[in-house]
Amino acid sequence: HGVTGILAVQGAFAEHAAMLDRLGAPWKLLRAADDLDGSIDRVILPGGESTTQGKLLRSTGLFEKVAAHIAAGKPVFGTCAGMILLADRLENDDNVYFAALDATVRRNAYGRQLGSFAATADFGEVRDFPLVFIRGPYVVSVGPRAQVMTEVNGNVVGLKQGNILATAFHPELTDDTRIHELFLSL
Ligand code: GLN
Repeated sequence: HGVTGILAVQGAFAEHAAMLDRLGAPWKLLRAADDLDGSIDRVILPGGESTTQGKLLRSTGLFEKVAAHIAAGKPVFGTCAGMILLADRLENDDNVYFAALDATVRRNAYGRQLGSFAATADFGEVRDFPLVFIRGPYVVSVGPRAQVMTEVNGNVVGLKQGNILATAFHPELTDDTRIHELFLSL
């Protein structure tokens, strides 16, 4: 298939690129609206700071391009801040971004300072995936269109909805390529 566009206005985009390199999958950084061209068949929204990313998405004109990509049903994978950008509703933030994922997400759900930890859980059929959390969100309610893929300590931290994948954790910060492979298979 084609090229994966990695949103690169802020945050952990380089780690996603390194993961795709390991898989031999072509990628392109998305910094300006024109970067999301016809060669891009899937998009990654990396971790970082969702408010900053939201502002930069607007000022670059990438917001409309990514929204159109999602509306066309093409694959998108949001990690951490990317999950926040995809959610229909944010419990503790007045912003809503792509409103594509039938879920309510709580930002900084584990606390801002000590909210970083590791765990292991399944992501759907992917068994025993190493989960890395960095001031991550979790999902406080899931609507009927979204499918729960991962739960940790009773909290939902991974979702799939058609061609949308979202994780509150950071698979790009591990050596485990399986979730990226799943994304590339969509
Ligand atoms: N705390 C960040 C936010 O609310 C997300 C953290 C991350 O992406 N690692 O946007």
